[in-house]
Amino acid sequence: MKRYSAFAIAREAISRHQNWERVWAAPEPGKEYDVIIAGAGGHGLATAYYLGKNHDIKRVAIIEKGWLGGGNTGRNTTIIRSNYLQDPSAAIYEKSRSLYETISQELNYNVMFSPRGVMMLAQTEHEIRGYRRTAHANFCQNVETEFIGPKRVKELCPIINIAGPRYPVLGALWQPRGGTARHDAVAWGYARACSAMGMHIIQKCEITGICREGGIVTGVDTTKGRIRCNRLGIMVAGHSGVLADMAGFRLPIESVALQAMISEPIKPCMDVVVMANTVHGYMSQSDKGEMVIGGGADGFNNYTQRGSFHHLEETVRALIETFPMISRLKMLRHWGGIVDMTGDRSPIISKTPVDGVFINCGWGTGGFKAIPGSGWAMAELMAKGTSCLADPFSLDRFREGRFIDESVAAGVAH
Ligand SMILES: Cc1cc2nc3c(=O)[nH]c(=O)nc-3n(C[C@H](O)[C@H](O)[C@H](O)COP(=O)(O)OP(=O)(O)OC[C@H]3O[C@@H](n4cnc5c(N)ncnc54)[C@H](O)[C@@H]3O)c2cc1C
Repeated sequence: MKRYSAFAIAREAISRHQNWERVWAAPEPGKEYDVIIAGAGGHGLATAYYLGKNHDIKRVAIIEKGWLGGGNTGRNTTIIRSNYLQDPSAAIYEKSRSLYETISQELNYNVMFSPRGVMMLAQTEHEIRGYRRTAHANFCQNVETEFIGPKRVKELCPIINIAGPRYPVLGALWQPRGGTARHDAVAWGYARACSAMGMHIIQKCEITGICREGGIVTGVDTTKGRIRCNRLGIMVAGHSGVLADMAGFRLPIESVALQAMISEPIKPCMDVVVMANTVHGYMSQSDKGEMVIGGGADGFNNYTQRGSFHHLEETVRALIETFPMISRLKMLRHWGGIVDMTGDRSPIISKTPVDGVFINCGWGTGGFKAIPGSGWAMAELMAKGTSCLADPFSLDRFREGRFIDESVAAGVAH
């Protein structure tokens, strides 16, 4: 792999940029691999990368039914934070956030990580109490957050209307090193590094069956034929239930469409990420100037990867109260992705009832931020059979009732 650098840009300019090498190879599938990863989203690609880098497992194929990064990884609103309440959550999300700090240098690929700060607005007394509690928990977990008052909120984000008619801003949970990254670049950067290690990324190849002998995985059936393997990692987000069904077990997962939208580009007006959970809306400004706005999830299970007008209307209506300036903005695009929700709104990173099959799913509306940490933990689990970051998120927690109930505890999405 040729390194990207200022010198490389100058060198390639001589040949009018005609000779850049392909970012990742497009091989035909081999007959057998040590590990097959189902799904070339961020989680699948990061897992493959850390399998190679941390555990020297490189005979790996990543099989993708569409194009890499074309699932939720390329559809999200890119918020990165680690201000969770429960210890296992804070551990994996903070691992992830800290990996984001240096991932561009490590991958030699600019993922545009921008630690501009994330604030979660408190707009009710209940939220003030909840966020103060989270700030104390984060202090014990070594996660840098702070509860700030309305004056400081206004200083950090002047376009906020602090004295909203229904829900005035009473304070916020502020994480100064939270932020955003370029979602496609995260997938592309990991893909380039995986390909450089000799791993096969096979796109436009759908997994249609999972082969087992005596309760042990032996391979997968795909639209490009049967491929054998010793270990299979399922990382297909909203389609997790479909693949689990192929392997013969059930998952406590519901798949629903989650939506987002962006406005026309405008001059820089906001250099933090704001989440307003009471009115339900969150917003940041992209480097191009568009306001990136997150909407709601459908209230019924479905597999539709598109937005819907009633969510658009509800989200914009909710946000206008806190950001009156967006009432005059034109919206450019809206879209949806299929998110995989567990009952306790925490992920599953686990062995499964089929020997050799591992699953990583349930990231729901908030798994972009977790990509590096989840990949790290999943690779360790697949290589060694155990991982201190992953073990609390095993499937048996649903049977034992030891939920990691972030939904009740923190009550926030993304
Ligand atoms: C609108 C929206 C906003 C969001 N905002 C945020 C946010 O601000 N911050 C945050 O942290 N998270 C956010 N998320 C959540 C985040 O995007 C996801 O949790 C994360 O991207 C999941 O990554 P993944 O790799 O597991 O899944 P994906 O990126 O969806 O990848 C799974 C891949 O599996 C492939 N696949 C499926 N079935 C098969 C098959 N049979 N064979 C082969 N391949 C298959 C799919 O084509 C897909 O490419 C948001 C999600 C949405 C939809």
